[in-house]
Amino acid sequence: NKMKLCLLYGGKSAEHEVSLQTAKAVIHALDKNKFDIFPIFITKEGKWVQGPQITGPVEDVKYLQFPGDRESAANEIMPSSLDSGFDMVFPLLHGPNGEDGTVQGMLELLNIPYVGNGVLASSAGMDKVVMKNIFAQAGLDQVKYVSFIRSAWEADREAAYKQVEEKIGYPSFVKPANLGSSVGISKCDNREELKAAFEDAFRYDRKIIIEEGVIAREIEVGILGNDELACSVPGEIVPKKEFYDYEAKYEDGSTELVIPADISEAVYNQIREMAFTAYKSLDCSGLARMDFFVSPDGRVLINEVNTMPGFTPFSMFPLLWKNTGVPYPQLIERLVELGRQRYEEKQ
Ligand code: ATP
Ligand code: MG
Ligand code: MG
Ligand code: MG
Repeated sequence: NKMKLCLLYGGKSAEHEVSLQTAKAVIHALDKNKFDIFPIFITKEGKWVQGPQITGPVEDVKYLQFPGDRESAANEIMPSSLDSGFDMVFPLLHGPNGEDGTVQGMLELLNIPYVGNGVLASSAGMDKVVMKNIFAQAGLDQVKYVSFIRSAWEADREAAYKQVEEKIGYPSFVKPANLGSSVGISKCDNREELKAAFEDAFRYDRKIIIEEGVIAREIEVGILGNDELACSVPGEIVPKKEFYDYEAKYEDGSTELVIPADISEAVYNQIREMAFTAYKSLDCSGLARMDFFVSPDGRVLINEVNTMPGFTPFSMFPLLWKNTGVPYPQLIERLVELGRQRYEEKQ
């Protein structure tokens, strides 16, 4: 009895290309004896295109980008594609309009089971300000931060910069509140750079966050589970440049991922407990990747959560699980199973 699995990929966000790579890899890894695969491609303009059922390997992502003449909107495609009788949807989407609870809300309303986090965890996890407020409430250590909306900054730019300098100082990191893959993020060492960073971050979002910059090792763990949680081995990101920016993530291959990270058991235990606390504080389910900073004196700070982390076989989350004894095809099946369980518990 095969499962009819619908893959949602592409999307309007800056992480469109990453999503295509993920879709190709997931299709490759899915056992065709267990799954019938139904693709839905979301164009960069946000149009939805349902493609034919996929039965064989996909050589190139271009075969997943279906021609635009059948383009339609989510509210047309999704209900009509229900005639295909999907058992489950796997949203392979990162960033706004995919990782942020919007797609999850649509699937809830249509009563279709789906893989990964629900509406609340997705939306709270996507907004770095809301996320950090919840983490603070849960007693988790993190860097200092302040936030601005565009209109407040436009009303008095000087006051905004002054507030950053008084509360945060330099170096600081300026980020769009809702994004990923380091898009729109800048490190600032002075007022000139701060101004440019505000301009840039506000191009992506009406809300930004400014954080205290720390000099620290970057350690990440993967979490799997709904009520019972498992934590992967730790991984370390070793950037060869100033920070782990978009190019380092996807283009120049300049970043080294060390798995398992060489950290003490005490630090690992602390990271694991903090990751579980963070996961529960946002009511995550299915999966999440938790990013941490470990300062030279061994202090552990949580940086952020990713409710749909990079998911190609070369991305941190799948590599962490591979090193924990869960290879890529099994990881996908485990996520599908967790999605099914969560759906059934709600009925
Ligand atoms: P992704 O979702 O792809 O992990 P993101 O866009 O959500 O990324 P962050 O993880 O918050 O962004 O930051 C990206 C990178 O910038 C970090 O991996 C780290 O290298 C650097 N960085 C971010 N915040 C800080 C900080 N407060 N101090 C020092 N470095 C930072
Ligand atoms: Mg992300
Ligand atoms: Mg992120
Ligand atoms: Mg990150």
